[in-house]
Amino acid sequence: MPELAEVEHARRQWNVGLGAAVREVLIARPEIRVFRGTDVAALRRRLPGRVLSRSEANGKQMLFHFEPLPGKGEKTRLWLGVHLGMRGDLRVETTADFQPGKHDHLVLRQDGGRALVFEDQRHFGRILFHEGAEPPAWWTRLAPSVLSAEFTRDGLADFLQRRRRSPLKAALLMQEKFPGVGNWMADEILWRARLHPATPAGAVAADKRRLTELFQQIRWVAQTASEVISDNWTYPPTWLFLHRWEPGGFCPRRGCGAALERATIGGRTTCWCPRCQGKVES
Ligand SMILES: [Zn+2]
Repeated sequence: MPELAEVEHARRQWNVGLGAAVREVLIARPEIRVFRGTDVAALRRRLPGRVLSRSEANGKQMLFHFEPLPGKGEKTRLWLGVHLGMRGDLRVETTADFQPGKHDHLVLRQDGGRALVFEDQRHFGRILFHEGAEPPAWWTRLAPSVLSAEFTRDGLADFLQRRRRSPLKAALLMQEKFPGVGNWMADEILWRARLHPATPAGAVAADKRRLTELFQQIRWVAQTASEVISDNWTYPPTWLFLHRWEPGGFCPRRGCGAALERATIGGRTTCWCPRCQGKVES
């Protein structure tokens, strides 16, 4: 399941198409669930001629903006929403004779033989389309990104207090507060903040020092992971990320090196360092 860093990486794949108009929209199988609730006929009819002007991501959702047609008094904007689901991805093709593959469910052809492609083998992804003067409700209703100014330390304390009996790991996976934070990112955050994943959320809500540390690590991991993944996908060896997947593995913190532990917490396989995050605090 792509987390916010992978989504950010996918979003940037289509950046090469910024400033260029869409010439043709190819959708081979409008009946698949990727397009549920979406007016595919309108998408095919309205997008050609529009210029891709901007894109943004929040958590697991992406939004691509298309400008009104110039000089025709057209006011409405078009918005394309993309959710990658379990295995979806975005890519760009640059050969003029490119033909969509079996899993290329949406292809936006631009001039110069370029094609912006959405692929999804599992069909858990989603394509949304909106036309209007204002952005769509399915975008504006999303919880604020953990990197936005609306995500504050006080807001974090309130949220943890309301879920004070939940293990921290389970709380961090709640998408209504931490959009796009998934399993590995939550483990990375807690390891950096030196908090045991089973610690009740309320214990941190009431402790200014630990609350500040958790808040800062949420921001740092989200920001840094997005940069690293967009750069070369190479995480420094000092990230827990690189050591968590296989059985075994040792804490990469300098001077620690303890054997990592794993258990199911919050319904997900959780990895932590028993020395750095040793005690379940309450
Ligand atoms: Zn350690």
